[in-house]
Amino acid sequence: MTTHEDPSVLRQEIIAASRTLDAAGMMPNKSGNLSCRLGQAFLITPGGVPYADLTPEQIVTIAGKRRRFDPAGPRPSSEWRMHEAIYVARPDVGAIVHTHSPRATALACAGRGIPIFHYMIALAGGDIRCAPYATFGSEKLAALAVRGLEGRRAVLLANHGVVAVGATLKRAQAVAMEVENLAGQYLDLLAAGLEPALLSDAELQTIIGKFTDYGRIDPH
Ligand SMILES: [Zn+2]
Repeated sequence: MTTHEDPSVLRQEIIAASRTLDAAGMMPNKSGNLSCRLGQAFLITPGGVPYADLTPEQIVTIAGKRRRFDPAGPRPSSEWRMHEAIYVARPDVGAIVHTHSPRATALACAGRGIPIFHYMIALAGGDIRCAPYATFGSEKLAALAVRGLEGRRAVLLANHGVVAVGATLKRAQAVAMEVENLAGQYLDLLAAGLEPALLSDAELQTIIGKFTDYGRIDPH
Protein backbone atom coordinates (compact mmCIF):
# COMPACT_ATOMS: atom_id res chain seq x y z
CA MET A 1 0.00 0.00 0.00
CA THR A 2 1.70 3.18 -1.14
CA THR A 3 -1.14 5.67 -0.80
CA HIS A 4 -2.84 7.20 2.15
CA GLU A 5 -6.61 7.20 2.40
CA ASP A 6 -7.13 10.67 3.81
CA PRO A 7 -6.19 13.66 1.61
CA SER A 8 -6.46 16.14 4.50
CA VAL A 9 -3.84 14.14 6.44
CA LEU A 10 -1.63 14.00 3.35
CA ARG A 11 -1.90 17.77 2.88
CA GLN A 12 -0.74 18.29 6.45
CA GLU A 13 2.09 15.80 5.97
CA ILE A 14 3.25 17.63 2.84
CA ILE A 15 3.27 20.95 4.69
CA ALA A 16 5.12 19.50 7.68
CA ALA A 17 7.75 17.84 5.48
CA SER A 18 8.19 21.03 3.41
CA ARG A 19 8.83 23.06 6.54
CA THR A 20 11.27 20.51 7.96
CA LEU A 21 13.28 20.44 4.73
CA ASP A 22 13.13 24.22 4.38
CA ALA A 23 14.33 24.68 7.98
CA ALA A 24 17.19 22.27 7.26
CA GLY A 25 18.34 24.55 4.43
CA MET A 26 17.41 22.07 1.73
CA MET A 27 14.89 24.25 -0.13
CA PRO A 28 16.77 27.53 -0.72
CA ASN A 29 14.74 30.47 -2.03
CA LYS A 30 11.41 28.58 -2.29
CA SER A 31 12.98 25.93 -4.54
CA GLY A 32 11.94 22.30 -4.65
CA ASN A 33 8.56 20.63 -4.42
CA LEU A 34 6.88 17.68 -2.70
CA SER A 35 4.05 15.38 -3.68
CA CYS A 36 2.09 12.34 -2.50
CA ARG A 37 0.17 9.81 -4.54
CA LEU A 38 -3.57 9.73 -3.83
CA GLY A 39 -5.26 6.90 -5.72
CA GLN A 40 -5.24 7.83 -9.42
CA ALA A 41 -4.30 11.43 -8.54
CA PHE A 42 -1.52 13.12 -6.64
CA LEU A 43 -1.15 16.11 -4.34
CA ILE A 44 1.70 18.57 -4.94
CA THR A 45 3.04 21.79 -3.46
CA PRO A 46 2.15 24.99 -5.34
CA GLY A 47 4.71 27.08 -7.19
CA GLY A 48 6.13 30.23 -5.65
CA VAL A 49 4.62 30.06 -2.16
CA PRO A 50 7.06 30.34 0.78
CA TYR A 51 6.99 27.04 2.67
CA ALA A 52 6.40 28.85 5.97
CA ASP A 53 3.13 30.27 4.57
CA LEU A 54 1.72 27.06 3.01
CA THR A 55 -1.88 26.21 3.87
CA PRO A 56 -3.70 22.91 3.16
CA GLU A 57 -5.92 24.65 0.56
CA GLN A 58 -2.83 25.63 -1.44
CA ILE A 59 -1.74 22.03 -1.98
CA VAL A 60 -2.81 21.24 -5.56
CA THR A 61 -4.60 18.07 -6.64
CA ILE A 62 -3.64 16.81 -10.09
CA ALA A 63 -6.08 14.21 -11.32
CA GLY A 64 -7.72 12.56 -14.28
CA LYS A 65 -6.51 11.07 -17.52
CA ARG A 66 -5.15 14.37 -18.76
CA ARG A 67 -3.93 15.26 -15.30
CA ARG A 68 -6.11 18.35 -15.03
CA PHE A 69 -5.88 20.73 -12.14
CA ASP A 70 -8.34 23.48 -11.21
CA PRO A 71 -7.33 26.58 -13.25
CA ALA A 72 -9.06 28.81 -10.70
CA GLY A 73 -6.98 27.41 -7.82
CA PRO A 74 -3.30 27.71 -6.92
CA ARG A 75 -0.87 26.70 -9.66
CA PRO A 76 1.02 23.48 -9.09
CA SER A 77 4.80 23.45 -8.92
CA SER A 78 6.39 23.86 -12.35
CA GLU A 79 7.80 20.33 -11.95
CA TRP A 80 4.41 18.59 -11.79
CA ARG A 81 5.14 16.75 -15.07
CA MET A 82 8.21 15.16 -13.52
CA HIS A 83 6.19 14.00 -10.51
CA GLU A 84 3.50 12.64 -12.83
CA ALA A 85 6.01 10.73 -14.95
CA ILE A 86 7.57 9.15 -11.86
CA TYR A 87 4.18 8.03 -10.47
CA VAL A 88 3.27 6.51 -13.84
CA ALA A 89 6.59 4.66 -14.19
CA ARG A 90 6.99 3.58 -10.58
CA PRO A 91 4.08 1.87 -8.82
CA ASP A 92 6.33 1.47 -5.74
CA VAL A 93 6.55 5.24 -5.29
CA GLY A 94 4.00 6.89 -3.01
CA ALA A 95 5.77 10.22 -2.48
CA ILE A 96 8.37 12.41 -4.17
CA VAL A 97 10.69 15.04 -2.70
CA HIS A 98 12.53 17.35 -5.09
CA THR A 99 15.13 19.69 -3.61
CA HIS A 100 17.95 22.02 -4.59
CA SER A 101 19.82 20.97 -1.44
CA PRO A 102 23.20 22.71 -1.62
CA ARG A 103 25.82 19.93 -1.45
CA ALA A 104 23.99 17.48 -3.72
CA THR A 105 23.22 20.29 -6.16
CA ALA A 106 26.92 21.23 -6.22
CA LEU A 107 27.75 17.70 -7.37
CA ALA A 108 24.91 17.81 -9.90
CA CYS A 109 26.35 21.02 -11.33
CA ALA A 110 29.55 19.07 -12.06
CA GLY A 111 27.47 16.32 -13.65
CA ARG A 112 28.70 13.83 -11.04
CA GLY A 113 26.67 11.15 -9.36
CA ILE A 114 27.52 9.55 -6.01
CA PRO A 115 29.32 6.17 -5.98
CA ILE A 116 28.83 3.43 -3.39
CA PHE A 117 31.34 4.81 -0.89
CA HIS A 118 29.25 4.64 2.30
CA TYR A 119 26.80 1.97 3.36
CA MET A 120 23.98 4.49 3.87
CA ILE A 121 23.71 4.83 0.11
CA ALA A 122 21.66 1.62 0.36
CA LEU A 123 18.73 3.91 1.26
CA ALA A 124 18.88 5.06 -2.37
CA GLY A 125 19.09 1.46 -3.63
CA GLY A 126 22.61 1.80 -5.06
CA ASP A 127 24.87 4.39 -6.64
CA ILE A 128 23.11 7.69 -7.30
CA ARG A 129 23.20 8.67 -10.97
CA CYS A 130 23.31 12.21 -12.31
CA ALA A 131 20.69 12.59 -15.04
CA PRO A 132 21.68 14.79 -18.01
CA TYR A 133 20.52 18.40 -18.07
CA ALA A 134 17.14 19.48 -19.41
CA THR A 135 15.12 22.65 -18.81
CA PHE A 136 13.17 22.75 -15.55
CA GLY A 137 9.50 21.84 -15.89
CA SER A 138 10.02 20.12 -19.25
CA GLU A 139 8.78 16.71 -20.34
CA LYS A 140 12.36 15.92 -21.32
CA LEU A 141 13.52 16.49 -17.75
CA ALA A 142 10.67 14.29 -16.53
CA ALA A 143 11.79 11.45 -18.81
CA LEU A 144 15.44 11.84 -17.82
CA ALA A 145 14.53 11.78 -14.13
CA VAL A 146 12.53 8.57 -14.59
CA ARG A 147 15.44 6.92 -16.41
CA GLY A 148 17.96 8.05 -13.79
CA LEU A 149 15.74 6.65 -11.03
CA GLU A 150 15.56 3.16 -12.55
CA GLY A 151 16.10 0.70 -9.70
CA ARG A 152 16.88 3.59 -7.34
CA ARG A 153 15.20 5.95 -4.88
CA ALA A 154 17.27 9.02 -5.72
CA VAL A 155 18.75 10.76 -8.72
CA LEU A 156 20.70 13.98 -9.21
CA LEU A 157 19.53 16.33 -11.97
CA ALA A 158 22.45 17.99 -13.75
CA ASN A 159 22.74 21.75 -13.12
CA HIS A 160 19.57 21.58 -11.06
CA GLY A 161 19.08 19.45 -7.92
CA VAL A 162 17.86 16.15 -6.52
CA VAL A 163 14.84 13.87 -6.69
CA ALA A 164 14.18 11.40 -3.87
CA VAL A 165 11.28 8.94 -3.76
CA GLY A 166 9.74 6.54 -1.28
CA ALA A 167 6.65 4.55 -0.45
CA THR A 168 5.69 7.35 1.96
CA LEU A 169 6.60 10.99 2.36
CA LYS A 170 8.65 10.18 5.47
CA ARG A 171 10.68 7.66 3.47
CA ALA A 172 11.23 10.05 0.56
CA GLN A 173 12.22 12.81 3.00
CA ALA A 174 14.73 10.50 4.71
CA VAL A 175 16.28 9.62 1.34
CA ALA A 176 16.53 13.30 0.37
CA MET A 177 18.27 14.14 3.63
CA GLU A 178 20.66 11.21 3.32
CA VAL A 179 21.54 12.16 -0.26
CA GLU A 180 22.51 15.63 0.96
CA ASN A 181 24.60 14.08 3.74
CA LEU A 182 26.36 11.69 1.35
CA ALA A 183 26.96 14.46 -1.18
CA GLY A 184 28.64 16.53 1.54
CA GLN A 185 30.91 13.64 2.54
CA TYR A 186 31.78 12.91 -1.07
CA LEU A 187 32.57 16.57 -1.79
CA ASP A 188 34.77 16.69 1.33
CA LEU A 189 36.72 13.66 0.06
CA LEU A 190 37.15 15.21 -3.38
CA ALA A 191 38.17 18.56 -1.87
CA ALA A 192 40.85 16.76 0.16
CA GLY A 193 42.14 15.16 -3.02
CA LEU A 194 41.06 11.73 -1.82
CA GLU A 195 39.30 9.10 -3.88
CA PRO A 196 36.89 7.12 -1.71
CA ALA A 197 37.27 3.38 -1.26
CA LEU A 198 34.14 1.87 -2.80
CA LEU A 199 31.99 -0.93 -1.40
CA SER A 200 31.33 -3.93 -3.62
CA ASP A 201 27.97 -4.66 -5.22
CA ALA A 202 27.78 -7.85 -3.11
CA GLU A 203 28.22 -5.81 0.08
CA LEU A 204 25.61 -3.33 -1.12
CA GLN A 205 23.11 -6.18 -1.57
CA THR A 206 23.89 -7.41 1.96
CA ILE A 207 23.20 -3.93 3.36
CA ILE A 208 19.99 -3.56 1.33
CA GLY A 209 18.87 -6.91 2.78
CA LYS A 210 19.57 -5.72 6.33
CA PHE A 211 17.81 -2.38 5.77
CA THR A 212 14.80 -4.23 4.35
CA ASP A 213 14.73 -6.53 7.39
CA TYR A 214 14.92 -3.56 9.76
CA GLY A 215 12.05 -1.89 7.89
CA ARG A 216 14.23 1.08 6.92
CA ILE A 217 13.47 0.52 3.24
CA ASP A 218 10.72 -1.23 1.35
CA PRO A 219 11.58 -4.06 -1.03
CA HIS A 220 11.30 -3.09 -4.69
ZN1 LIG B 1 13.92 22.24 -9.15
